Amino acid sequence: MIQIQNVSKWYGQFQVLTDCTTSIAKGEVVVVCGPSGSGKSTLIKCVNGLEPVQQGKIIVDGIQVNDPATNLPKLRSHVGMVFQHFELFPHMSIIQNLAIGQVKVLGRSQDEANERGMKLLDRVGIKSHANKFPGELSGGQQQRVAIARALSMDPICMLFDEPTSALDPEMISEVLDVMVDLAHEGMTMMVVTHEMGFARKVAHRVVFMDQGKIVEDASKDEFFGQPRSDRAQQFLSKIL
Ligand code: ADP
Ligand code: MG
Repeated sequence: MIQIQNVSKWYGQFQVLTDCTTSIAKGEVVVVCGPSGSGKSTLIKCVNGLEPVQQGKIIVDGIQVNDPATNLPKLRSHVGMVFQHFELFPHMSIIQNLAIGQVKVLGRSQDEANERGMKLLDRVGIKSHANKFPGELSGGQQQRVAIARALSMDPICMLFDEPTSALDPEMISEVLDVMVDLAHEGMTMMVVTHEMGFARKVAHRVVFMDQGKIVEDASKDEFFGQPRSDRAQQFLSKIL
């Protein structure tokens, strides 16, 4: 579903990604972790073309992202992205947040979009707040809305960039629970997170990054059992 082949990227003179290669199969859940500044957000943004790459290839569902001929808005509409800071439209109600993309991008009728939106809000436990505005919801609720909004576009895969790191501790599990359910339903997921409990529960593989490189790309059992690199060992010893 997602192939990252020998990707290198620079911000000006600064090389942020160096020869990164990995892939994510359909239905696979891959957790990406590593120290702050190691290039995790940059890598995930490259996957849906929010950032260009200067070398290598990224292919999503058979379409090369970094090919000038690719219709990026169209591709992005099929790739769900959930950020650290929710990024909901603050001036729209929750249900409007869920419906707008379906109507404007997928061409669904307003009724159809609302109906699908309500189903998804129900699924993430927010149905009773459908007519509120984002500012009236807690961070955990807003992040569940953001996940529901991404799902409303019928994505072929979901990308998450530290979806729980801006949340108060008591709200983390309500968001992770939704993500665990998604994983169990077979969604293809690339998840940047330091929530190693989540990784242990649902990840198939763990990718560890350091200084722009993929230092380790291992099965969950290998990674938690015996990480090969010193850097990953140090990292795990600090956060576990
Ligand atoms: P992570 O998500 O692992 O913390 P990032 O991908 O955000 O890492 O950043 C990797 C490195 O690239 C950091 O050194 C960061 O300062 C730098 N960086 C990130 N975004 C930009 C940008 N738009 N311009 C220049 N440097 C950037
Ligand atoms: Mg980041």
